[in-house]
Amino acid sequence: MLRKQVAGALASAVLTGTIALGGCAQPGAQQVAQPEAKPAESANEAQNREALYQVSLLQSLTEGDFEGSVTVGDLKQHGDTGIGTFDGLNGELVMLDGQVWQAAGDGSVNLMEDTATIPFGNVTFLDSDETLDVSGAASFEALLKQLDGRVEELGINNFYAVRIDGTFDKMNVRSEHKQEQPYPTIVDALAADQTFFDLEGVDGSMVGVYCPPYMASLNSAGWHFHFVTADHKQGGHVLDCVVGKATATIDQTKEFDLALPGSQKFESTDFTVDRSADVKKAETNE
Ligand SMILES: [Zn+2]
Repeated sequence: MLRKQVAGALASAVLTGTIALGGCAQPGAQQVAQPEAKPAESANEAQNREALYQVSLLQSLTEGDFEGSVTVGDLKQHGDTGIGTFDGLNGELVMLDGQVWQAAGDGSVNLMEDTATIPFGNVTFLDSDETLDVSGAASFEALLKQLDGRVEELGINNFYAVRIDGTFDKMNVRSEHKQEQPYPTIVDALAADQTFFDLEGVDGSMVGVYCPPYMASLNSAGWHFHFVTADHKQGGHVLDCVVGKATATIDQTKEFDLALPGSQKFESTDFTVDRSADVKKAETNE
């Protein structure tokens, strides 16, 4: 009960702001989402299908700000596809087709209730602008290089959400066990409670977000991918992979919607400190 009240108070304290990056020209697009396809307005605001919605800052996670501030139910108002983590850094979040899955530290994958809360995440409504055959990519690095090639042509200063469906000869993912208050930094939490899963010959979906270089102090610049198997039994944060036969669906997004948590921890964090090394370590485990 207490947690519910706290979560409600935080949710009502969420601050939102939208940055629009201009028009909708999509060179090379095979399909373009039609504005009239927008769903009906929700209670308080229209669902913007062309914005990348972000809960808090990745830099807050590096400081151990793991307290959930937005519910899974609220997240669904802002997208159907995305990545993130749960209250207490309780596993990796993968949102696919409007469903929110937790790839937990014990290796299980669980469908999460709308009342679960998240301290960090990025979601959007995936409207395919184009597809790309990424079959045979020999490593995660090779896959990202191929995606970077498209982003360089489409414009590196926009946001992109990508979903890659197919077979994966290898998929190396990690997750982590839930942390307890007082929370450690993310680097310490991962050092103590990170778990690794090396999957072979699996069908599934990778969900990724690309942030432009100027986002480095709010998130991490470049790509961030999570994965879940087609049977929703295994998954996590992607560290490496070998792609079998797979297709990437790419959605260019020109707006950014940031929901700050408004918590005491957030308000008291000094964001002038450069946390790029911690962010890189948390993302790549290197
Ligand atoms: Zn991740």
